[in-house]
Amino acid sequence: MALIVQKYGGTSVGTPERIGLVADKVAGWRKKGNDVVVVVSAMSGETDRLLSLADAVAGVPPPRELDVLLATGEQVTIALLSMALEMRGIPARSYTGSQVHIRTDSAHNKARIREIEDKRIHADLADGRVVVVAGFQGADEYGNITTLGRGGSDTTAVALAAALKADECQIYTDVDGVYTTDPRVVPEARRLDRITFEEMLEMASLGSRVLQIRSVSFAGRYNVPLRVLSTFEEGEGTLITYEDETMEQALISGIAFNRDEAKLTIMGVPDKPGVAHQLLGPIAEANIEVDMIIQNVAPDGATTDFTFTVHRNDYKKGLAILEKTARAMGAREVSGDDKIVKISLVGVGMRSHAGIASTMFEALAKEGVNIRMISTSEIKVSVVVDEKYLELGVRTLHDTFKLEQPEVI
Ligand code: ADP
Ligand code: ASP
Ligand code: MG
Repeated sequence: MALIVQKYGGTSVGTPERIGLVADKVAGWRKKGNDVVVVVSAMSGETDRLLSLADAVAGVPPPRELDVLLATGEQVTIALLSMALEMRGIPARSYTGSQVHIRTDSAHNKARIREIEDKRIHADLADGRVVVVAGFQGADEYGNITTLGRGGSDTTAVALAAALKADECQIYTDVDGVYTTDPRVVPEARRLDRITFEEMLEMASLGSRVLQIRSVSFAGRYNVPLRVLSTFEEGEGTLITYEDETMEQALISGIAFNRDEAKLTIMGVPDKPGVAHQLLGPIAEANIEVDMIIQNVAPDGATTDFTFTVHRNDYKKGLAILEKTARAMGAREVSGDDKIVKISLVGVGMRSHAGIASTMFEALAKEGVNIRMISTSEIKVSVVVDEKYLELGVRTLHDTFKLEQPEVI
């Protein structure tokens, strides 16, 4: 008998029939004698629908009220799934985030979980019930409803698994595991049996939305055994695990990409100490996260050019701020591009191998893909390219590094 936390994503609970299917699966685990806590997302498309309602009413809605609105999506599915379980003779109870004391900070729309009180859940489990918890939401210390950012139900599940000391956290979704890249872009992509926390974290932060980044860091920190599986097919899925000496180590474990990128450039800035701070300070104050940064010295030697990337949603705001800064600093010109994407190669095996980056650049060049920015770390190489090259770039790299075949070093 084990304690299992399962999370079912939006497509898995997207219709009444699918909710029935999920109830059958949960009932199966329960009947085998396991204690089961289920976390569900809103029905697919629901969070987007709520966001567009808020947009229609308010344009830029107050973050607190947006959270009150968005949290309703998950409240629908916890009730429906609990009903479906009861119909099948499985005692179940649904709870919103605040009801099971998922306490977060007060950063509306991107709150972080601070603590979870497990008493109520343990009591229900002891009484033989399946506990169904709304993903993606919690409440701050004043009782305000908060949400955890897009894809946040993954984090709810992992945090619950950590708090309850579950034997496994299972993330059920519409693919049967973590692949070498998004199988919707590269049909030849290969499912991985295992991937390290470190690699998964890198893949998630570079755009693979199969797991929310915070869920992976949480699982790594609290040592939660984490598995990604399909709701619709049987299989072992992908286990996210610590790097282990006996593990076959692929040079590259995967390719991530991010379509939500935009870049901003300021040219002809007087080159003196403090320039970076003067430029990026106002951007940070506006709560805009900056990803890659490149600074070039202009040919005249006295001025410098700066380029950095931000989330596409922040593009217009960032451009306006930069234009203001440019006027204040006497810079020559500001420009931007919101039709760019980032493609990244990820793999712990890269640490011990030189030449990955140059093979990557060569492969892209052969296909005529122009690289606009580059950034590297020990276990990844990222390039920014024009949006139109996304599919070509990802497929070319998948092919060049032969990711469809398992490779061992
Ligand atoms: P859910 O609604 O279940 O949370 P998501 O849409 O958030 O599902 O995540 C699953 C999707 O992630 C898949 O349908 C797939 O298109 C995408 N994805 C991106 N990169 C990968 C990858 N490397 N492996 C598997 N799926 C990926
Ligand atoms: N419903 C939320 C979203 O669409 C949270 C989640 O599905 O994980 O982002
Ligand atoms: Mg998701």
